[in-house]
Amino acid sequence: MNDCIAARGKLKNIAIEAKRNGLGGVEFLEGIPGSVGGALRMNAGAMGGATFNVIESVRFMDHTGKIQDAAAPACRWNIAAVRS
Ligand SMILES: Cc1cc2nc3c(=O)[nH]c(=O)nc-3n(C[C@H](O)[C@H](O)[C@H](O)COP(=O)(O)OP(=O)(O)OC[C@H]3O[C@@H](n4cnc5c(N)ncnc54)[C@H](O)[C@@H]3O)c2cc1C
Repeated sequence: MNDCIAARGKLKNIAIEAKRNGLGGVEFLEGIPGSVGGALRMNAGAMGGATFNVIESVRFMDHTGKIQDAAAPACRWNIAAVRS
């Protein structure tokens, strides 16, 4: 899957739309309640799948209001830092 998904998107809907479009890899999102934004923050996962295993990059607004793009590995590092 190589698409842009809004943070407000519901995880169940992402899984359903992916299936409708013949795309695999995000089936695990189907049973997780919440949005893409929350899943990114929590690295939500189920059934062996995890959000950051299927994310390539994230576009976000930083604390100064600037829009930035970050590759997924950089975001994972930031999440680990926030959690520790
Ligand atoms: C019945 C049940 C089953 C669950 N099963 C699973 C499971 O199988 N696997 C799993 O991983 N989790 C599970 N969860 C936990 C939860 O659903 C997930 O962690 C989900 O990813 C949280 O998403 P949310 O949109 O509800 O985020 P919230 O709970 O609303 O927020 C989580 C964090 O993300 C931040 N956040 C949310 N949206 C944004 C945004 N747009 N931009 C920046 N930050 C944002 C919030 O500030 C907060 O720090 C379950 C919860 C319930 C109640």
